[in-house]
Amino acid sequence: MAGSSPPAGLSALVTHLVALKPDLRPEEIGTGSSLTRDLGFDSLDLVRLAARIRDHHPEADLRSWLTVTSRTEIDSVASLAALLSETGRTDYVALARELAPAFAERAARHDAEASFPYENLDDLVRSGYTAMTVPREFGGGGADLAELCAAQQVLAGACASTAFSVNMHVHGLAMIAKLGGADAEWVCRAVADGAVIAGGFSEPGVGGNWWHPTTSAEPVEGGYVLNGRKGFFTGYPGATHLFLSAATVDDRGLPRPMAFLMPKPEKGIRVTGEWDAAGMRATGSHSLAIEDLFVEERWSIGEPGTLPLLFMTGVHWAWCSFAAVFAGIARAALDHVVATQRRRVLSVIGRPNAHLPGVQFRVAEMAARLAAAEAHLAAAVHADHDTDDPLGHYIDMSLMKTSVTRLAHEVVTLGMRVQGGSSLVSADPLQRMYRDVVAGLLVPPATDVVLEWAGKQALDVPIFAEPRWAG
Ligand SMILES: Cc1cc2nc3c(=O)[nH]c(=O)nc-3n(C[C@H](O)[C@H](O)[C@H](O)COP(=O)(O)OP(=O)(O)OC[C@H]3O[C@@H](n4cnc5c(N)ncnc54)[C@H](O)[C@@H]3O)c2cc1C
Repeated sequence: MAGSSPPAGLSALVTHLVALKPDLRPEEIGTGSSLTRDLGFDSLDLVRLAARIRDHHPEADLRSWLTVTSRTEIDSVASLAALLSETGRTDYVALARELAPAFAERAARHDAEASFPYENLDDLVRSGYTAMTVPREFGGGGADLAELCAAQQVLAGACASTAFSVNMHVHGLAMIAKLGGADAEWVCRAVADGAVIAGGFSEPGVGGNWWHPTTSAEPVEGGYVLNGRKGFFTGYPGATHLFLSAATVDDRGLPRPMAFLMPKPEKGIRVTGEWDAAGMRATGSHSLAIEDLFVEERWSIGEPGTLPLLFMTGVHWAWCSFAAVFAGIARAALDHVVATQRRRVLSVIGRPNAHLPGVQFRVAEMAARLAAAEAHLAAAVHADHDTDDPLGHYIDMSLMKTSVTRLAHEVVTLGMRVQGGSSLVSADPLQRMYRDVVAGLLVPPATDVVLEWAGKQALDVPIFAEPRWAG
């Protein structure tokens, strides 16, 4: 991880090489390795590799690479990785589709055991998926919000827990990257190098009101000492870096919320509760105590007090990607229900269940709700995010997340009714989707706060006036 960065494109190339030759160990593939001499690729393997690269990186100029290679016999991993990073780019939706079947196969076991899917995270890091939102100048994929959401929707259909865990990383990183400057550069380079971020902004007693952290940040020589608690720290087991909030106190005694991003500390953080929940069971969303944690000054992100503004201006990355995860579960549920109802034959009618009017009506209801969810998400993804009205932007994105997750929940619930009692049986993935999709209603932003702010905005009632409703 530490040290000089590998060439951009290397992680994607390693994935392709291992996919073609599963015996290869990724850690043994060096940039100087020759494909033919060291990695044992024969001409047929090279043809298969070329076909794969054409599929995944349609812009890569393979022809010139093959010409130079056959003339000079320089067929190093580095030369091909450079080609992928210079002219080609990873198609992250295609990559998600490729990773999805293995994740789907492992999903039931991780759900049953509430175990963290380390092997999925390894695949995501090794394939470069976790570097998706790192800008290209820092060795990442430079994916935009539309691509991020489309890819996350695919992953969520396979294993919602994995998608939700990596979502904390990809969207958090995108928000930091947009800040630019030194704060962003080191993080981006670390992620291109394999780092994985988990984020903790909600706290017991604060819930989803993330702009009021009660974790304290006391200024000391060279940095801050943090004390507090964090609940639901999704992805904590696999994270190498932590992104979290705390508050200093200004001269008037008022809290100034701050964000910190640091390498996962060896001391000062203790797991107080292992994640064992009804849904999203494989997310490792542990509860943590932060105890006299020294954080260097350089790990703070942005100026003290600016956290709410930073979050509001970049909120489309958060709420759109959250919505994408739950829309992805809903789409997978619809596909699953349709496939089952076309296959399952009810002997009393002597035809597949698909011929029953109740099945048809509910499947149509599912499709209509899903279309509404995806359309609202798409409108938010493609909206103008360059806003001079951060609060209005925050409200628009929050309302979209609230609506999409509600619709996604309705889609899966309708699916349970179509499938009947068998959908409750653990062998049917629909019951896992049902438990996972509920989380969409519970993750931030808190529904009642969204409805209050959006309603007041629509009615032109001051949003932050006190008292909130009387007067
Ligand atoms: C699966 C899962 C994973 C999560 N992962 C993370 C993570 O990685 N990082 C992270 O920071 N958090 C995470 N969270 C936690 C999440 O961020 C919320 O903090 C948490 O779910 C909400 O807290 P709470 O349940 O105490 O509800 P509260 O936020 O306390 O809400 C309870 C009720 O009160 C209402 N309410 C809340 N505040 C107000 C208010 N100001 N005015 C009026 N009504 C209000 C809500 O609408 C709701 O009905 C995760 C949650 C889940 C379910």
